[in-house]
Amino acid sequence: MKCRRCRGQAVIELRRHNSSFCKDCFFDYLTNQVTLAQEKQKMFSREDRVLVVVSGGKDSLALWEILLGLGVNAWGLHINLGIDEYSQKSEKSVRNFAENYDAELLITNIKDEHGRGVLDIASKTTRTACSACGLIKRYLFNKVALEKGFSVVATGHNLDDEAASLLGNVLHWKEGFLGRQSPVLPSVHPKLARKVKPLFRLTERETAAYCILKGIDYLKEECPLVKGSTSLHYKEALNLLEQKSPGTKHSLYFGFLKKRAVFEPPQLNLKECLRCGQVTTDETCAFCRLLSEVESKTRVSKERIC
Ligand code: AMP
Ligand code: ZN
Repeated sequence: MKCRRCRGQAVIELRRHNSSFCKDCFFDYLTNQVTLAQEKQKMFSREDRVLVVVSGGKDSLALWEILLGLGVNAWGLHINLGIDEYSQKSEKSVRNFAENYDAELLITNIKDEHGRGVLDIASKTTRTACSACGLIKRYLFNKVALEKGFSVVATGHNLDDEAASLLGNVLHWKEGFLGRQSPVLPSVHPKLARKVKPLFRLTERETAAYCILKGIDYLKEECPLVKGSTSLHYKEALNLLEQKSPGTKHSLYFGFLKKRAVFEPPQLNLKECLRCGQVTTDETCAFCRLLSEVESKTRVSKERIC
């Protein structure tokens, strides 16, 4: 197997591009895909301070490494979600990376800030653990960006994530979500940072291979909350199709990006939350409502014990 670019010994085959790459050309390929994503979608400029939100997994660590290599002013933010051993290992992997690359890292610990981890919070509400966790993370990403002066939040969502989420949105015809699904969510309020997904052109197999070849020590374990979630079923279905017909995920997602103007992004009447001041469409934001639900459930159970 020869490298498509330099004809040297290839280390990886990318069937969806009908090509193979040696180590160095593969590194160039990944970096070029991120640069292309950033330039074509106008994700950020040299002046922007970028907050890369890092879970400790392959995607977000590969993203952080690539952005640092490109000379982007990229700080990391890790949220310790308080999911026992899994969260301890995640934080350790992020801390190791920051130390090895001499990168700036911010850490927020949910248990320290709110007295309980995501599982405990979710169990006192009507939300599933994954949905509560997603809400809490999105809220904290924006809050920290705002407080620390970052104009852009970058996540490690890749092509597999985006194609699976698109499939879910189409299967249930969630038009509002389709209107909002994009590699870039512009800031539509002074208190909202721009959200970008610079890995949307790359698959998770590619980011995993990148980390292994670069010697980036990422956490291989999946979040225990994700097991059995519908997004995993969509990924499995797409993997099956991709295996039979390489390029399926790319064609699904990039075809959507060309046609997405058909789906109008919902018009939102944005206000500031009466409790925390963050942006919301209601009187109080979803995060504060979640905390109130937990507080009232805790009060009721305490009263019962008394
Ligand atoms: P997920 O929602 O778990 O699929 O993760 C999507 C993206 O969110 C990841 O690629 C990271 O950029 C970010 N992320 C997930 N978990 C965390 C975390 N605990 N702390 C910071 N960022 C995270
Ligand atoms: Zn609020």
